[in-house]
Amino acid sequence: MSGEVLVKANLLAPRPPEDAVTTHPALLSALAGFLREKGATGVTVSDSPGYIFQDQWEELFRKTGLDSLRLRNVTLRPLVDDGLVEVAPPNGITLSTARVARLFMEAPAVVNAAKLKTHVETEMTGCIKNLFGIADTATRKSAHRSPSHRRLAEGVVDLFSLRIPDFNVLDAVDAMEGDGPSRGRPVRTGWIFTGRNALAVDVVGSFVMGYRDPWKIPLIAAAAKRGLGPKGFDEIELEGCRWEELSHPGFRRSSSMVRWIPTPLRGWAHGLVSLRPRLDPSLCTGCSVCARVCPVDAIKMQEGRPVIDRGICVRCLCCHEMCPVGAMKVHHNLLSRLF
Ligand code: SF4
Ligand code: SF4
Repeated sequence: MSGEVLVKANLLAPRPPEDAVTTHPALLSALAGFLREKGATGVTVSDSPGYIFQDQWEELFRKTGLDSLRLRNVTLRPLVDDGLVEVAPPNGITLSTARVARLFMEAPAVVNAAKLKTHVETEMTGCIKNLFGIADTATRKSAHRSPSHRRLAEGVVDLFSLRIPDFNVLDAVDAMEGDGPSRGRPVRTGWIFTGRNALAVDVVGSFVMGYRDPWKIPLIAAAAKRGLGPKGFDEIELEGCRWEELSHPGFRRSSSMVRWIPTPLRGWAHGLVSLRPRLDPSLCTGCSVCARVCPVDAIKMQEGRPVIDRGICVRCLCCHEMCPVGAMKVHHNLLSRLF
């Protein structure tokens, strides 16, 4: 890999590496060294983190531990530094147009350095979901307004299709279980997965999470259907380990899934078991981040506290994902708790 290389990390929020929310700085440091050895003349690590943190770059770099990379001659840059370009995803299903970072689209080479986590909406997040971060806030909100998780998954794949990364690295050393991508629990697997094909790497990551048929995850199914990677285990060549060594016992999945329900009934049942955001007033600082990220403006700040209009809320859980202090909880109704 020669010339300048852009590393698209997962820098979702200013959280310390041990929370397993962001790509670990030690992995990024080693990756930068490796890329230089392979001929890269410069390495830039970048992301466009969740909505509101875009004006807190130095805090983000400090808290995630990335500022130490500067000592190794790695450039840290906001992904939107060079502005946005408007593009039409090829065969876009959820998104007919998207505004995405010029820096990403025009970089001579791109390495996708993702984090393995559960996700309350897309079930898992890895290499494919990591490229959701190349879009601006309006494009992301538009995808989040999708009427179903499947439709959102198609929106993620719409964005991924815009520019296929040259190489993929999935940081699963400390992955996340439970209600990821920001409020789950770290779980040590010890693995780092790499590969040219993002979908293949995500399949391996899902296998570690305990999925015996990763193609049942809407995100992976959508990418496979569009021919972006393997459609079965026999199309993946593992090096350095065997499948039976990979599975991690007791990896807790996100609680928002309804896999036990037959497919024709899922739409109906989803309403009965789907999760809702619920405020814990004792933790809320009144920062209004939740109101700003809500894709359908269902949250209004009243007397310094967020109030959710349940009639408008589409239960995307973005407010839960982005609340900096974890005050917007996920509420499970009786049926979802049962199952
Ligand atoms: S719920 Fe969280 S994001 Fe919303 S105002 Fe309170 S602290 Fe801020
Ligand atoms: S209130 Fe929260 S869960 Fe509901 S639509 Fe807004 S961001 Fe999504």
